[in-house]
Amino acid sequence: LSARLPVSTDSNEFSQLATIFNQTFSRLEGSFEQMRRFTSDASHELRTPLTAIRSIGETALQQQSGDPACRETIGSMLEETDRLVQTIESLLLLSRADGSTLQKEPAEIGELLADVVEFLSVLAEEKQQQILFERRTDFTIPADRCMLRRAFLNLVDNAIKYSPEQTTIQVALYRDSHDNTVVDVADNGPGIPDAEKERIFGRFYRLDNGRSREMGGTGLGLSITKAAVEAHGGLVTILDNPGGGALFRVIFPSAKQDS
Ligand code: ADP
Repeated sequence: LSARLPVSTDSNEFSQLATIFNQTFSRLEGSFEQMRRFTSDASHELRTPLTAIRSIGETALQQQSGDPACRETIGSMLEETDRLVQTIESLLLLSRADGSTLQKEPAEIGELLADVVEFLSVLAEEKQQQILFERRTDFTIPADRCMLRRAFLNLVDNAIKYSPEQTTIQVALYRDSHDNTVVDVADNGPGIPDAEKERIFGRFYRLDNGRSREMGGTGLGLSITKAAVEAHGGLVTILDNPGGGALFRVIFPSAKQDS
């Protein structure tokens, strides 16, 4: 959100149009920032009482050691509370990724990916899956490590969640023929239908299938990935994995590599 039309000094129609466009653009930018701040403030406000509800629930659970029905009810309440906390944490992340306050310092993408793969390998092992990481290049950019790590973590985590047991998830870091730096995360799951390829980056959007509901996520993971990657000058697309399944591709264009 930084484009402005040049306003020439002649008072011709184009110049007037450019002025109106720029004013409208500034107002839109202001509204966007207000919305972002509202999301962030509301999430902070909701986090505190929810944490209190959680600890009250835990105490109640300890006190109800003898009544199975009561324990089950409190257990369900705690599960729902956890889901809400997860959603709020995701909203906070999203508003941070959308904002301009990211703290950037040089980070090597291969290291971030290796860290994500190691962190998630336990989850993959539970499904007897294998994560293969091919690190064919180095790539250092000014990055908010935590945010960019989260962007990749969501992709690999989804690949694990949505693919069947005993499959392989492939993560690759390489340069393409245009010298763009590319990160591919490919799986052998059900893939993403063409009609959904744009929409699944939308906030709270989930494919309407049993599998997504079963997984109990927030529907915000891919929006966070998109916002975080774009905040680092990259873009994310979905392709079909030639071997069947989904292939999420993150591209950092070569022209922006040094910015
Ligand atoms: P969540 O996983 O929390 O539901 P996401 O924003 O990460 O939310 O993903 C949105 C939806 O996209 C998921 O609900 C799922 O239906 C679909 N999806 C994401 N990644 C994959 C994948 N690798 N394979 C198949 N479907 C996927």
